[in-house]
Amino acid sequence: MTNIDKVKTELELNSGLSTFLDIVIRLHPNLNKDELKGRYDLKNKYAVSIGAKNWHVAETTVRKRESAHTDVCCNKCGTKVNAQGFCIDETCIHWDWPQAMSPNIEFISEMSLAKLESKFGIKKRRYISAECLIDDDTHNVSFDASDYFASLNDQELLKSLLAFDSVDWCGDIILNEMINHFKQYDDHDILKFANYIQSDKCKNIIAECSIDGLDVHEWLKTYRPKVFKSFIKNTIDDDDNFCSGVDMGIKPPI
Ligand SMILES: [Zn+2]
Repeated sequence: MTNIDKVKTELELNSGLSTFLDIVIRLHPNLNKDELKGRYDLKNKYAVSIGAKNWHVAETTVRKRESAHTDVCCNKCGTKVNAQGFCIDETCIHWDWPQAMSPNIEFISEMSLAKLESKFGIKKRRYISAECLIDDDTHNVSFDASDYFASLNDQELLKSLLAFDSVDWCGDIILNEMINHFKQYDDHDILKFANYIQSDKCKNIIAECSIDGLDVHEWLKTYRPKVFKSFIKNTIDDDDNFCSGVDMGIKPPI
């Protein structure tokens, strides 16, 4: 078990919890992992085993650390890295390969993606294509929305997925969420877009954001498989009305 002081991301914390639950299940094969995931006594036990006071403290500590991580710079080019640890310079090798790949960069051209990921225990970035649009098509902005999804805990992520899916992955609620999220990166293109649509020139213009739902599926399968399962289950179970009761708590744009 990795000590809480060394856990850098929420993803790492949750995967540690998952390993812990696997051990519990090995000892008690009659238990069901999906049910165990919701048990706070087990989450607390895991948190204590890695040196945190309880699960809430562990989660809060790691989230704070992860947001501070945005001040960390890329090993190779010195540009800032995002919350997932990827360089924000699209021309840099670490834009889509984690910083931990640094000593083994030469293998990238020699092996398949699957082999590289299993050999070095890392995951290449899964891009989620997204675009902010206005109805006259003059100021559209394309970007990677994965940083937004990675910043959410499981519950928030599921809520968000259901809400976005209910508007077929395109709408102003998505735009508002993206603007709110990317405010933390001072020079993100979305912020220029937000300023533009709030200017006098855009009084009667419709602005929205669309996200590639298939990219989201791929990303979920790689990074948040459990949430992906719940998402698919929810969309199948409630078919016509699966978004009822989902309160996004959408904040207004800046
Ligand atoms: Zn870089």
